[in-house]
This record gives sequence, C-alpha cells and structure tokens, in this order.
Amino acid sequence: MKSNGAENLSRKVTPEIIAKLEAIVGKENVNTSEMDRMLYGHDLAPLPKEAGLAFNNFPDVVVRPSTVEQLSQIAMVAYKSGVAVTPRGASTWGLGGSMPTAGGILLDMSAKMRKIHFVDKVNMCVKADAGCTWKNVIEACEKEGLLVGSYPSSFPSATLGGWVSTSGVGPGGYKYGSGRDNVLNMEVVLSDGTVVVSGFDKVGNNMSGYNLNQLFGGAEGTLGIIGTVTLRVYPIGVIKPVAYDFQNIKDMAGPINKIVSHPSVKPLHIAWSDSYHFENQRRAGLHAPDVNNLFLVTFQGAPEFVALEESIVDSFVEEAGGKKVSSEIANHEWDERCYEYRVRKAGVGSIPAEVVIETSHWAEFVDECYKGFEVMKMEAGGIVGMIADRSTSMFMPYYFKDDESLLGMTAFAYNFYMGEVAKKYGGRSLGFGVFFASNLDTTHDAGPAAELMRDLKTFLDPHDVINPGHLVCGKTRFGISLSKNLMGVGGSLMQGIKKLLPANTTFSDNLDRFRYDTLEEEKEESRVVEYGKGTQ
Ligand SMILES: Cc1cc2nc3c(=O)[nH]c(=O)nc-3n(C[C@H](O)[C@H](O)[C@H](O)COP(=O)(O)OP(=O)(O)OC[C@H]3O[C@@H](n4cnc5c(N)ncnc54)[C@H](O)[C@@H]3O)c2cc1C
Repeated sequence: MKSNGAENLSRKVTPEIIAKLEAIVGKENVNTSEMDRMLYGHDLAPLPKEAGLAFNNFPDVVVRPSTVEQLSQIAMVAYKSGVAVTPRGASTWGLGGSMPTAGGILLDMSAKMRKIHFVDKVNMCVKADAGCTWKNVIEACEKEGLLVGSYPSSFPSATLGGWVSTSGVGPGGYKYGSGRDNVLNMEVVLSDGTVVVSGFDKVGNNMSGYNLNQLFGGAEGTLGIIGTVTLRVYPIGVIKPVAYDFQNIKDMAGPINKIVSHPSVKPLHIAWSDSYHFENQRRAGLHAPDVNNLFLVTFQGAPEFVALEESIVDSFVEEAGGKKVSSEIANHEWDERCYEYRVRKAGVGSIPAEVVIETSHWAEFVDECYKGFEVMKMEAGGIVGMIADRSTSMFMPYYFKDDESLLGMTAFAYNFYMGEVAKKYGGRSLGFGVFFASNLDTTHDAGPAAELMRDLKTFLDPHDVINPGHLVCGKTRFGISLSKNLMGVGGSLMQGIKKLLPANTTFSDNLDRFRYDTLEEEKEESRVVEYGKGTQ
C-alpha cells in the first residue's frame, strides 16, 4: 500500500471533498440531494424510519464512478479524510451490507460500471465491470455458447461485485461452486487507492501464494472495492430442467441423499419448493402449477450425458414415491427461479431466513422450519431452498411481515431462531452485513479466526473507511459495538417478545389493505422495464 498520509480523519464530507469528487467523476455524477441520499440509505430490506436512530445510514453524497482509475482516486480522497466509502451494487442483499453506517460516500457501482470488457471463447473466460448485472454477463456468454457456472437467483439485477462479495449459494453452484469459486481475476481498489490485481485473467491460480480472489471475495466490501471481475465460464451444451411432485416433502430426502453420494450424477441445480409456497402464490392471485411439493433438478451438458443423468434421477425419485411432472411445469419453475418471492405482489412483506445445514439432516430440518413458524407464531410463506454442494443444503424458509411498523421488525426473531436451530445440524446463518455482524464470533466459536479477520481488516484499512461497521464490527452511530453478547441478548429478547405477541396475520390484513392487483398493472403499463438494464 502507498503511504498516503492522513490529513484529517473527521469523517466529515466538506465542500472541498465534494469539489474533489466532482473533479474526478464529473459534476453530474455527484449527488447530494436529500431524496437520493434517503433512497440510498438502505438496501432491499425495508427499514422502519426509527433505524436512523441507531445508524447514520444516509450517505452524505452518492457518487457514480465509471472506471477503476476513478475508484482509486475516490478512495485516495476518502482515505486522507477518514470519510466512509460504501460500495453498493443493486442492493438486493438485505443484510444491510450496502447500507452506510457512518454516512460518507455511497459508491453506486451499478450506474455506470457496467461494461463487458471481453468474452474469450478460446480460453473460456469473461471480464466485466463489477457493476454489471449477472443477467447481462450470462446473455453475453450465451451468445458465444458459454455458460456462467453459477449466479444468484436475483441475477436480473444483482451485480458481479455484489455476489462475489457475499459469496452466496445460487443456481449452478451445485455443479460449479459459488460465485467466488469461479473468479479468475479481479481489480480491487484498496482503502488508500492502490489497485491490486488479485489473480490472472486467462489461467487458473494453481500455485502457491495467498489466494487473493478468495480473500476479497466474500469480504462484503470491507477490504476493498472490486472494480472488475474475470470469471471462468464453461461450454453450455443443453440445459434441461426436470420436475417431480411429492405428496410429502420429506420424501425428497431419499433422492437427495442418493444424488449427492453418486460418483457421476452432478446436476447443475437441485432445488425444492413446498406446498405452502404454491398455495400462497394462488392466494396472491398468481399462477402456480398444480403440484404439492416440487423437486426441481436441472441437468446441463452434452445431451447423451444429460439423458443418462435424468434416467438415474428418475429411478431415485420413483423409489421414493415421487411423480415426474410435465416439461412445461419444469421449464416454468426453472424460468421462475429468480422470482421466489412473487407473493409480495399481494402487498405483503416477505423475508427469508437463510441458513445452511449438513445435507444428511435435510428431512429433520424440514420439520424444524415448520416448527419454527409455529413457535414464532409466523405466517408461513413457504420453504424453498437448494443443495449447495454434496454436504451442504441451503434452506430459505420465508414468512410474511409488516414492513411498515416497528413491531413488524420482531418477525426477524424467526431468523435468529432458525440460525440457532441450524447450529444443531452443523450449520449456520448465511452472511453478516450490519445486522448479523455479531455472528462472526459465534460462527467461528469465538476462536482466533474471527480475530484474524479483524486484524486483516485493520491492516488493509487502517483508517476504517471501506464499508465500516460491517462484517467484522457491526456498530451503531454512537459507536456501540453490536457484539455477540449484546446481539445474543437482543436476539433472545426479540424471540421472547415475538412469542408473546399475537400470531401474525399480515397476509390477509394486507390483502384488504392494498389493491396491489390493479396498482401493479397500472404501474407496469406506465413504464418500460428492461431487466438487466437497471430500469426495474
Ligand atoms: C429475489 C432474490 C433472490 C436472491 N437469490 C440469491 C441467491 O440465489 N443466492 C444468493 O447468494 N443471494 C441471493 N439473494 C441476495 C442478493 O441478491 C445477492 O447476494 C446479490 O448477489 C447481491 O448483489 P447486489 O449487487 O445487489 O449487491 P448489494 O446488495 O448491493 O451488496 C452486497 C454486498 O456487497 C458489497 N459490494 C457490492 N458491490 C461491491 C463492489 N463492487 N466491491 C466491493 N463490495 C461490493 C456491498 O457493500 C455489500 O456488502 C437474493 C435476493 C433476492 C431479492
């Protein structure tokens, strides 16, 4: 790192700093309007206005960079003055990752950093700006007969930088690993403006040396700003979704366990949706297939291999009493993979608890999800999820909550509850952000790993300017650390209160309260939406 001296670490965004930012990116890309600052003050998770009491979540200024060079210059300005810099992709994550905690500069990466630099058919890789959506990258690769191995189901709007930074589980991950597993190279801007090239564009990282792709990936934007990403991509072959209906969801455990222990069957994606999920879609007036619990297995590769894999999975399902359904339903559910929470259309807030557990406990955990809805007096949205890898299953049981009242926030008690239950099955909650930063210690059993991560953060970001208050140190505006003890007490208290409150009735209340059916249509008629272009 360069030794740029600090001038004044007051965290204050002065008119001089605004002028410097304007000189770097142009006046039209520096925005201090109150309305915009408010809109950029939270991510997809709805926050009641009282959240502002705890966090300084309105940025002082929203900046729209276009190049890595500009990112570097912005970082230099922030480093010298101690101003916080929050990288924001499409803000679809929901754990407060792209929500500022100390005001400062909000970097809107999705506005102008959307360029695809190259798709290399010979070396099978693609390089794009970090603010580019997964959808745009997927489409550019498909034109060349190439497959992006995995992506989040929010791919129509989620950005490369956002998913690499959260390193989650997504479609394609069962066969090709997580987003960061497919990263060949990145240009990452450190807190003082230094640009680090983390790997190699066209060959793998097969050598000794610290793996910087893995270090910056999954860092939730706390170690540096990712400017560009080069991904490994694959020959596409055919993609064939196949769906099976199960009367009893727990009977899916048989085929799941057989698939994960098979030496050669490796589907692209293995997912499930329960009967509540479909029932609620019908309640919300949406189309849903006529099935009970749906098991979706998507195969990819050369047609003859796909046919063989399909016949093997058919036999596993038949033995477990499942029934193959039409290719129309299978294709529909595959196409719907980015719309798991469509029921929001009915005007209800729906939030998932996202946890991973050992796949060997899959059936027991289904029971735990339903039990959790009952214990926490939640209205069940449904249980959806996917197999992350041979030993890991990701569950996203989702529920309905009132987004607009502070009391509605108590619904998050279910997330704390499910995180604790997941531990009994060798698992944990996914992601930290601001709201779950205290889990860093519990996830690593309060051992030295969490301390090492804090030391790395301090070393790479000595002025604490890159996404402060996240992942390694959840903090309120008063500097109160959201430690595991404080959050442990808070989480238990929230669970206690939730159990005392009357059961949730958000879905039916909201159906009366909103007229979203017509409002949505009116809204859709009045605007042109092109997914992947940021217009949604
Ligand atoms: C309908 C729906 C489906 C979803 N499906 C999945 C899924 O299948 N799998 C999954 O893992 N998640 C899923 N998510 C969660 C979320 O969409 C993903 O994590 C997504 O990849 C986040 O991308 P984003 O661009 O919105 O990032 P943001 O939410 O903007 O940011 C996420 C984090 O990354 C950091 N960040 C963003 N850009 C950069 C950058 N350039 N450099 C450094 N740090 C950066 C931010 O500071 C923040 O900490 C889903 C969400 C929704 C709403």
